[in-house]
Amino acid sequence: MRVRNGRKSFYEEAMETFHRAADLIGMNPRVRLELEEPDFEHIFYVTVETRDRLVPVDADDGARYRDLPPSDVKAADALEPLANGSFILHRRALLEADITMRKGVIRIPGKGLFRLEKGGPRKFKAYRIQHNQVRGPYKGGIRYHKDVSLDLFKTLAADMTWKTAIAEVPFGGAKGGIKIDPFNYSREEIEHLTLRYVYKFRKFMGPFLDIPAPDVNTNGEIMAIMMRQFTDGEREPHAGRGVVTGKDVRIGGSEGRLRATGQGVVYCIEDWAREKDFQIAGSRVIVQGFGNVGSSTAEILAGLGARIVAVNDAHGTVHSDAGLDVAALYDWVHRNPQNLRRTVAGFPGAAAISRDDFWAVDADICVPAALGEEITGAVAERLRVKVIAEGANGPTTREGDRVLAARRIDVIPDIICNAGGVTVSYYEWLQNQRMEHWTEGEVNQRLERAIKKNYSIIRDIARNRPQRTAHHDSRPYCLGRELDVRTAALVLALRRIEAHYLLEGFSQ
Ligand code: NAD
Repeated sequence: MRVRNGRKSFYEEAMETFHRAADLIGMNPRVRLELEEPDFEHIFYVTVETRDRLVPVDADDGARYRDLPPSDVKAADALEPLANGSFILHRRALLEADITMRKGVIRIPGKGLFRLEKGGPRKFKAYRIQHNQVRGPYKGGIRYHKDVSLDLFKTLAADMTWKTAIAEVPFGGAKGGIKIDPFNYSREEIEHLTLRYVYKFRKFMGPFLDIPAPDVNTNGEIMAIMMRQFTDGEREPHAGRGVVTGKDVRIGGSEGRLRATGQGVVYCIEDWAREKDFQIAGSRVIVQGFGNVGSSTAEILAGLGARIVAVNDAHGTVHSDAGLDVAALYDWVHRNPQNLRRTVAGFPGAAAISRDDFWAVDADICVPAALGEEITGAVAERLRVKVIAEGANGPTTREGDRVLAARRIDVIPDIICNAGGVTVSYYEWLQNQRMEHWTEGEVNQRLERAIKKNYSIIRDIARNRPQRTAHHDSRPYCLGRELDVRTAALVLALRRIEAHYLLEGFSQ
């Protein structure tokens, strides 16, 4: 058995819930074998030509260049700043520049001393795990992050198989991306890397084969690049538009997709609140991650009258007991060219607190919307909230789950809570196939129905409450006993997936 730090792999840990749910429904052994490992694990390499960079000279070394005269780089866009303090040096910078360089070091007024580092070819590890396609084309996000691995992508790909079944969209599950810290590369380098990824993976992608979408550190721009590379030179390029989702609405994206994951999180919270007789207006919320999912969830909840009292991200935490101005925070993070790491840190409208203190902020709702394994046992002990709405994928560890259950803190599991993204991705795909364009109202109406219906079924399975209402029917799924809500969600997914195998059979 593979172990990490004395523990099981992510995948093995995540699959414990799968096996528990499979046992509970008495899953056909052949179906279990089909689902317990991915259909395909693609690991490949992408190479790109990186540009020359100006890298800050450290203080000790800098003393040797005290008398170096400043250089005058005139073209305003010649130096492209990166989050790690370096600059990409575009060659056009040299056209009108007046430069003094000593042993590769130059002084840029107002910025300091920099050493010119030569660019060149670099190789990056890339992944696409296609977990299962029995219900439809492989579907799942593309993540650009330094901490990705086969183990992580297998887990996230399997989660997509469960999630698409829960959302009742005719897709399977996949996940992939590139092992890179994208904040240390220029837009052009990231574009080339993305083009290269599609160039290599093209044969395995397609609107009816495998459909990527944005995930951590990717967005509509990256999806546009992928679509272009996939359809370029095709006789009917429009027929390939559904090869990716999460596109800009002007090039075939869906209204409502940008905020769909956050909107789905809020529909789940609304349904939880209805059952608990809890008022969202006036409630207190803490949010981890202020990217696509975190910022849209915060914005929608604030619009319903909730107070967003603390936000944590990769580089800092901001806190305001009176509630943060979410629109101003969004501008600070996402519309501020100086904020290269796109972080909440330094936001002038709030106090900075430590990451540790973030988890202990007194609130009602906690929305983890960053990376996995954040709510550990120790964090779960400190939380002072009533419910965790999992915007992120896999934010809670098994130990975290045990502590939350013992402390009677409710959990809305990721595979229903953040299913709004893939649900509206399906609407986008449908609109692409039909060459239609739906309004945001239409999209959200369908999304609300889908999320609330399936979340109600999951809660009924958990409480063993078989019933049929005007909106949902949980009778075929309840098992005659109560379950934790995470296992209940898997029961719903596995029942729907298993039906395909049982009704379609196996070719030999
Ligand atoms: P994003 O790249 O837009 O934002 C990620 C956020 O997480 C950033 O604010 C970043 O600073 C923060 N973050 C990164 N590392 C952190 C750390 N160690 N501690 C605290 N914060 C950290 O990504 P996103 O698309 O919003 O995705 C966030 C989560 O939601 C991921 O788990 C993703 O798989 C999941 N998700 C996304 C979608 C979608 O439609 N984008 C759909 C379903 C699930």
